[in-house]
Amino acid sequence: MPRPVRVRFAPSPTGPLHMGGVRTALYNYLFAKKHNGTFIIRIEDTDQARFVPGAQDYIVDALNWAGIMPTEGPGIGGKYGPYVQSERNSMYRPYAEQLVESEMAYYAFDTSEDLTTMRDQAKQMGMPNWQYNNVTRNSMKNSISLSSDEVQKKLDKGDPYVIRMKMPRNVDVRFEDEIRGWVVVNTNNLDDKVLFKSDGMPTYHLANIVDDHTMEISHVIRGEEWLPSAPLHVLLYEAFGWESPKFAHLPLLLKPDGNGKLSKRDGDRLGFPVFPTNWTTAEGEVFSGYREKGYYPESFINMLAFLGWNPGTTQELFSLEELSAAFTLDRVSKAGAKFDPDKTKWFQQQHLRLRDNAVLAAELKIIVEGDHSLENLSTVCGLMKERATFIQDILTEGGYLIGRPTSYDEKTVRKKWKENSPALMLEWLTELKSVTTFNAEMIESAFKAFLEVREMGVGAVLPLFRLLITGKGMGPSMFEIAEFLGKEECAERITTGILEVSIVSSNV
Ligand code: GLU
Repeated sequence: MPRPVRVRFAPSPTGPLHMGGVRTALYNYLFAKKHNGTFIIRIEDTDQARFVPGAQDYIVDALNWAGIMPTEGPGIGGKYGPYVQSERNSMYRPYAEQLVESEMAYYAFDTSEDLTTMRDQAKQMGMPNWQYNNVTRNSMKNSISLSSDEVQKKLDKGDPYVIRMKMPRNVDVRFEDEIRGWVVVNTNNLDDKVLFKSDGMPTYHLANIVDDHTMEISHVIRGEEWLPSAPLHVLLYEAFGWESPKFAHLPLLLKPDGNGKLSKRDGDRLGFPVFPTNWTTAEGEVFSGYREKGYYPESFINMLAFLGWNPGTTQELFSLEELSAAFTLDRVSKAGAKFDPDKTKWFQQQHLRLRDNAVLAAELKIIVEGDHSLENLSTVCGLMKERATFIQDILTEGGYLIGRPTSYDEKTVRKKWKENSPALMLEWLTELKSVTTFNAEMIESAFKAFLEVREMGVGAVLPLFRLLITGKGMGPSMFEIAEFLGKEECAERITTGILEVSIVSSNV
């Protein structure tokens, strides 16, 4: 019987979560949902030197915002907890000792000075990449090269030591990656990685394997940068006699030009966020986030889902639920995924259009000045949403629906405002005033009749009407705008507009 699907996202709190990290979390989440499985968050904080205060809260908050909610994790609980490695600290040493006993690992007493000396000597001899491995370990200070008496003496004296993996010589390690297919690495290319440190903490490798095993993780879905560690992990599972989870290593996120990994500095340099939410460093430097730039979580995750995966159809707009239903690992590509800022904006634009006018109205109410009814704001959103990417754009593009125009588009004035325009607009105003049922349909038919009588084209009159009412050269249906503003407001705008535009026109 296949194991129940249990996947985890295991970030280290060494800084804010890059959008690549959010994508890893998202794919884990989608995979769990698709298979009625469990999505877990585990904080891997064994590297105390790289611990950044605030990072764990940032990660949890950012995933919450994106809607990537775990079933088990810190602050949520679950029967495999605790879910923060520093709180599990006492469990790791016995596993490391177990490997020493079964001769799959050993104590190494070399100081950091010893290691530096070895590296320097090797460099002088033309070998810049010295490794602690199955050849060099014999000339180092460890429980393989030293006699058991010497080892015991060192242990009794309390000399600091680490526990290293005893990498077997010349063995092909094989595993089938769900995305990359078969991966084969010879152990002669691997070093004797430290499993347990002299500070009494496990390294990432040991803690990761012990936790994945004890948390019954079925699939390890993580970034490509962990692929080189996978053979060691496979060997560790074998050494413990545990069933290994399945592995899936996700493609890298690349810069927009495809040249290299998308880094945290690229974002603000190229004008788009790389982080889900704002991150302020201890020095006060702010890295911008999607949330604060006005992106919706659904746009952000829709965009992220497509960075390295596609559904195999032409559908591009997905909700989180739809993504969960469509997601499969076999449609994740091996090749790096180029980040596309324009496409990211497009996703936001599309998801804004998908939001109900009433929902948008509530958002608009927060940022608009003055007291406006939700009903009115809802109509404003309905009129403007096709022209907006962010909620703010509804105000910048359609501010004239909320207050009177404060300026008149000069280009339109120059091109369209003629000597006879004031008279023409006054005549149109008379017609407009006589429309009894003041709705878009009736205004439009009055307008058409007006054109017919004067044998004029739409292009000669409509832009003038728009200019006086909105101050702009373009926008949504003028008849709907007029209906929304009402007869009186339209009349007042036309009257004042004629005067104002005549002044502008004499200056352009
Ligand atoms: N703690 C590792 C990281 O920061 C997790 C790698 C893994 O998923 O195994 O990405």
